Amino acid sequence: MPVDATQPYDDQNIFARILRGELPCTKVYEDEWAFAFNDINPQAPVHILVVPRGPYVSWDDFTEKAGDAEISGFIRAVGKIARDQGLVAPGYRLIANTGFHSHQEIPHFHVHICAGKQMGRMIPE
Ligand code: AMP
Repeated sequence: MPVDATQPYDDQNIFARILRGELPCTKVYEDEWAFAFNDINPQAPVHILVVPRGPYVSWDDFTEKAGDAEISGFIRAVGKIARDQGLVAPGYRLIANTGFHSHQEIPHFHVHICAGKQMGRMIPE
């Protein structure tokens, strides 16, 4: 069920539990600001989820409340993960679903990195 991006942060959400090590994941990367792991239901040959360590419900919450160091650290981490995975030349897509219409399912902000195949236009003509 899609979530409301304006809801209060719920620290029992799946990604919070992965961050605390309470649920397993296939870790791809971690640093001070970001933690990344493979999506359990990949939509492309490469499908990585990158989450900030802080408690933000959505892109909206993150960009409103996170500090400058947290935002820049997180965004640099997303770029580094894509470079480290060799995705820059073939290309990749970032997705940050936010709220009900986007079908955001997990109420902890995350960026999807999708790659490894030709994905076509984002919005068909
Ligand atoms: P979104 O719709 O943007 O909230 O995306 C949530 C994503 O989390 C989906 O692509 C799910 O496949 C993925 N997901 C859900 N549970 C897990 C989990 N335990 N480990 C890894 N990915 C998950």
